[in-house]
Amino acid sequence: MEQPINFKRKRARLGAKGRVATPEARAEVRKILDGALEWAGREFLVENLHRVQDAVGFLSARHLAALAAEMKLSQAEVWETATFYHHFSVVKEGENPPPPLTIRVCDSLSCEMAGARELLSALKSGADASQVRVVRAPCVGRCAEAPVVVAGQNPISHATTEAVLRAVESGETRAEIPAGAKGFAEYRAGGGYAIYGEMVAGKRSAEDVIGVLEESGLRGLGGAGFPAGRKWRIVRGTAGRKVVAVNIDEGEPGTFKDRFYLERDPHRFVEGALIASRAAEAEDVYIYLRDEYHGCRMLLERELGILRGELKLELPRIHLRRGAGAYICGEESAMIESIEGKRGEPRLRPPYVAEVGVFGCPTLEHNMETLHWVREILERGAEWFSGSGRNGGRGMRSYSVSGRVRNPGVYWAPAGVTVRELIEEFCGGMAEGEEFYAYLPGGASGGILPASRGDVPLDFGLVQEADGDCFIGSAAVVVLSCRDRARDAALNVMRFFEDESCGQCTPCRVGTAKAVRLMEAEKWDGELLEELCRTMADASICGLGQAAPNPIRCVLKNFAEEVQ
Ligand code: SF4
Repeated sequence: MEQPINFKRKRARLGAKGRVATPEARAEVRKILDGALEWAGREFLVENLHRVQDAVGFLSARHLAALAAEMKLSQAEVWETATFYHHFSVVKEGENPPPPLTIRVCDSLSCEMAGARELLSALKSGADASQVRVVRAPCVGRCAEAPVVVAGQNPISHATTEAVLRAVESGETRAEIPAGAKGFAEYRAGGGYAIYGEMVAGKRSAEDVIGVLEESGLRGLGGAGFPAGRKWRIVRGTAGRKVVAVNIDEGEPGTFKDRFYLERDPHRFVEGALIASRAAEAEDVYIYLRDEYHGCRMLLERELGILRGELKLELPRIHLRRGAGAYICGEESAMIESIEGKRGEPRLRPPYVAEVGVFGCPTLEHNMETLHWVREILERGAEWFSGSGRNGGRGMRSYSVSGRVRNPGVYWAPAGVTVRELIEEFCGGMAEGEEFYAYLPGGASGGILPASRGDVPLDFGLVQEADGDCFIGSAAVVVLSCRDRARDAALNVMRFFEDESCGQCTPCRVGTAKAVRLMEAEKWDGELLEELCRTMADASICGLGQAAPNPIRCVLKNFAEEVQ
């Protein structure tokens, strides 16, 4: 008969398992963390990894071991988190540390169209490799200024080899607070925080606020388009301690609208978040900001400090969290994992984040731009917003337009505007000498349409109605001209998905890599690609894997002559 396992017979462990933290390394980490109480909590792991890397330049095995010991975490927890994010440079034992400066060359679609590939190789051969590391990077959220290079923390727009090397030589590698941003005093003088004040004083009820939002038809502008008012009502009606989480991780190639508003008027979304916290009865507000927006982080740190000191109204606890370079953290449940200091891997649902979100609390999660419009809708009334729209669309939207148009940028336009109208009325036409060929209506995930479908209304549901393999998402419109090929654009975005897949599920992790290999062939194997698309769409956990087939299917359907 099989004997039951006698656990008592297991030999007692003689020492700590795995790497042992040296007293010197622990002292160094303690000094870097400067005795801050907060570093004891698990949720501060990503923040603390940033602190160590900012101080040392990279994350060595000895510092990771020391951080694990100081935070009372296992080595595995620290390593699995540190190695998940692109912006952490983990240096294993026996490896050389990276050079002191990293130059990131964005090679996402709009930048590739503007010559990023040539720029990358020129910088690799022109920079002093002992001092500078040149790497490719996914979208840095400045597609209207393509090509973009980030030297250290300094984003360089319309980058040339000379301009980047000049910036490096003169030490211009730090971020700066965006000039011209509206500060607390100016915002307050313009009536800012009055609505929030009315709620705190009991002069405006949560029911009123939610009613106006429902009537306005405002939807989540991060891409999913869930009706905002309904979401607020659901979270308000859920029992327990609640949280508001603001998603500023915009990483969808082609999207840069959140940064656009954040750099100009940061208090507007903050007030929207405060109003949301009051309406949902949330005690905490978490703001998750992508790591690429260094200047915005400095701006927010400054302005939140002023807000806490000068707004004489009861406030929820406001926490600013820094991403670390992972597109998937734009997915709401992955963002929540990252806020909790873990790898940004999407969660299986149900339960939905409205019921079980940040630290298990019911969470009202919103894209930043959605909250940006809350104050104005409440001031001007629901009709101001809902009465707008064009070609069957409803409301207003911010379109991030990039690619081969004369004036790329963020345009606040009636929802349902077509790409032809955007190009002609808002962008000053196509760029000199370019002829409209095709466009991506919703960033990397939203498919590709030919110019002949340039009359499709760009709004939630309407794009999908016109073509089942396309959607509007965060309204990132990338315009291609006759010198581009849709297959190249599709390959570019599939490489992006391959890099950004969190790796949690096989259809996405393996499928995106396999798709890239198949799409590199001169002639595409349509049958095999379609089989792969079906598997990815049906069996992936989250939207990344589920939407990854869109560009492939669009090319096979709308641009078949390019791949035969
Ligand atoms: Fe991760 Fe891709 Fe699966 Fe999403 S679909 S959970 S990104 S592996």
